[in-house]
Amino acid sequence: MKKKVSLLFVFLLIVNIGFSQTVRPTKNVIVMIPDGTSLSVVSASRWVKAYRNEGNHLNIDPYLSGTVTTFSSNAPIGDSAPTTSTYMTGVPQQAGNVSMYPVADPANDIVKLNPDSAYQPLATILEAMKMEQKKAAGLVVTCEFPHATPADCASHYYSRSKYPVLAPQMAANNLNVMFGGGNDFITDEMKAFLKSTGTSLFQDDKKGMMNFTGDKVWALFDKQAMPYDLDRNPDLMPSIAEMTTKALEILNKNPNGFFLMVEGSKVDWAAHANDPAGMIGEFLAFDKAVGAAIEFAKKDGSTTIVVLPDHGNSGFSIGRNGLKKSYTSLTKDDLFGTVSKIKRTAEGLEKILLNTKPENIKEVFMQYTGIEITNDELKTLAGSKNYKAEDYTQVSNSNNMTHNITVMLNERMPFGFTTGGHTGEEVFLAVYHPQGDVLKGNVRNTDVHQYLYKVAGLEKPMNQLTSEIFAKHTDVFNGLKYTIIQGKDFPKLVVKYKRKTLEIPAYSSVASLNGVPFSLGSVVVYVDKNNTFYLPKNLLEKVK
Ligand SMILES: [Zn+2]
Repeated sequence: MKKKVSLLFVFLLIVNIGFSQTVRPTKNVIVMIPDGTSLSVVSASRWVKAYRNEGNHLNIDPYLSGTVTTFSSNAPIGDSAPTTSTYMTGVPQQAGNVSMYPVADPANDIVKLNPDSAYQPLATILEAMKMEQKKAAGLVVTCEFPHATPADCASHYYSRSKYPVLAPQMAANNLNVMFGGGNDFITDEMKAFLKSTGTSLFQDDKKGMMNFTGDKVWALFDKQAMPYDLDRNPDLMPSIAEMTTKALEILNKNPNGFFLMVEGSKVDWAAHANDPAGMIGEFLAFDKAVGAAIEFAKKDGSTTIVVLPDHGNSGFSIGRNGLKKSYTSLTKDDLFGTVSKIKRTAEGLEKILLNTKPENIKEVFMQYTGIEITNDELKTLAGSKNYKAEDYTQVSNSNNMTHNITVMLNERMPFGFTTGGHTGEEVFLAVYHPQGDVLKGNVRNTDVHQYLYKVAGLEKPMNQLTSEIFAKHTDVFNGLKYTIIQGKDFPKLVVKYKRKTLEIPAYSSVASLNGVPFSLGSVVVYVDKNNTFYLPKNLLEKVK
């Protein structure tokens, strides 16, 4: 046991020494995350681009600078919530955690944790840049907006699936730009708050979004996630590159600069579904967004861009067992001919085939994939359960039509998969910095946070900001009379002192003193596990 502890300290020391490079701060910081993208997906995307005569290089290529070892606090294979939370807060976390200190798991923890800090919300880079530097902040995603990666930037909770708790925090955090999916998750209360802060809201209105000329805007498309890029109707849905360009135009109006996180959310979803055309289509769409950001950064001269996935997914490989030729004989046509001609994801093709008469299925399948299916396969498709698995992580092993289409396509392609889940290999790192102060080599997810902190030019330590904006109510109001009462949707803390009554609702950034509302400047988080409100320390001054 003693030896284990000392090794841990050596490891922590190495982490600190490893990050000693000088980083000149830039005015703007952009983080771009292709979710769940293993390096082999990048390789296949580059080959497919070349096969289609669209050039030999990806937009990330000139900026590839290293790899990132990304993990959860107690598990080497990461999940979206803890991994981006680590980039944002510097503290490794457990599966489920959204920028919140994990519960210690001493037998398995990879970093040393303080058990007393469990459930402590942790300030994020986005929050720090917004509050400490008065910079603008934006999020661009293709999943629903309270999904793990965007939630990690602008909300806090121990469970990523608690959208009703995460979504209002994202509104309360007063973002300048929120583009993505998820109309199902915006409530009337959130709409009222956005209106009160002068934030425009566009719902399934691409034109409205593209013509917007103000400085605070939400644009949401579709009920939950946006469609895959291959399945997208460009008249109705913006591409991730279009959303990125528009976000940069809006954020750049702030003279202090901005933070922007762009997530290619659904490379991961296509990987969970073992759908190569979907993975490549999503990555190439994401890479176009990287191109747009690089173009902006080069013109601007004071913008840093960090591009990195959050974890691997699916064990995707170019080449696999069971092919008729040896690996040395596989031609570019053998390897990339079929996938390059597929025009829809398996999910997109399912939507079309579900509305296709059985006698036309073969022809329609051919039209969208270039593949002639057999009569047996036709039977399988026609006999598929006519539903879509609700949990996208289960598509690769369920018996819906998407799964059956995927099996038929994969039998004809030379790609391998080992799982429908995440994988633990390191991920690529690409960095653009105007003076060349890039993060390089093999780094840990915690080093990525350190780099973002430095390049943002932040001065206040993150744990100090955390203690200022997320103090426990029991500490802040120690000795005063307070009660937690159940509000309409969420609990609120009511503090009474002499003739003053302070009401602080959970997951909001607006409190009230004797019934008069005022802005807190940060979100209040309530954790049921320890019945604690985490709120600004300076609230005591309001009552005393
Ligand atoms: Zn992820």
